Amino acid sequence: MRSRRSLIIRLGLCVLLGAITTWMVAWGLEIAAWAELLKPRVSTPSVSFTIDEPYFIELTRGENGIRAFETWRLLRLDVDGSLGDWARGLADEYLAQEEWQHATQPDRPPVRLDAEIISGPLRDGRATVTIKGHGLPSVLDTSTESRIYRTGVGWPLRSFLSDVVIDTSNGPQYHSLSWVTFSRTANTWKGPMSVALVLPLQPAWTGFALNTGFYGAFWTLPFIGLPLFKQHRRRRKGHCPHCNYDLKRDLEHGCPECGWGRGARASSESLHTPVD
Ligand SMILES: [Zn+2]
Repeated sequence: MRSRRSLIIRLGLCVLLGAITTWMVAWGLEIAAWAELLKPRVSTPSVSFTIDEPYFIELTRGENGIRAFETWRLLRLDVDGSLGDWARGLADEYLAQEEWQHATQPDRPPVRLDAEIISGPLRDGRATVTIKGHGLPSVLDTSTESRIYRTGVGWPLRSFLSDVVIDTSNGPQYHSLSWVTFSRTANTWKGPMSVALVLPLQPAWTGFALNTGFYGAFWTLPFIGLPLFKQHRRRRKGHCPHCNYDLKRDLEHGCPECGWGRGARASSESLHTPVD
């Protein structure tokens, strides 16, 4: 009875250590990517876009074995001034690219993004919109330019996610549980997000559970496998499996030194004693 309880406690400990290892590995990989120790950060970046007047959306996706990211950029095309001109120029460039690709490589899959924009109510006098069907933060402020950085990191599966929404007029807002530490430049939110270290705290549940099992299995070696092996070896030598006291192969009668095997005998004997 006592050993079964201890086994359950040890199993629980292995699961807990597996979860902690999953978490530490994900953060370690994120830090390594941020410090540019992991190269390439992205093996196959792909860019797609859509124009849903008056909005222009650009999505850059990339991943390698341990890390995946999505960067959404949302621009308004009806803004006057240099930002509007720039946004319209960018949209025209994409449209020309699309036309060119269609003409020269008709078999290649389209770069158009399947995304729908839903305008929301004004919030503090600013327009808010949602990109539908992409599991993204529900509200984007589009007064100037908005960006969403979504990252998934972990090994062997991606186990933690972070969502960061950056509005060039408001600075960053963190839409998932993240621990944002420090950035390598002072004006993080103006530049590419790669300069800021965002440590994700939101589990990607499937990856988190499977990684926990994976690392937990390793933790069973010192906490379950090794003690079982030790016990087995002591038994074979005819010693007490609990305290290694030499029982001269008489394991039947338990151990006089630590009491191992005597509780069970006592309780089986007590079955024969009449109950008052
Ligand atoms: Zn003993």
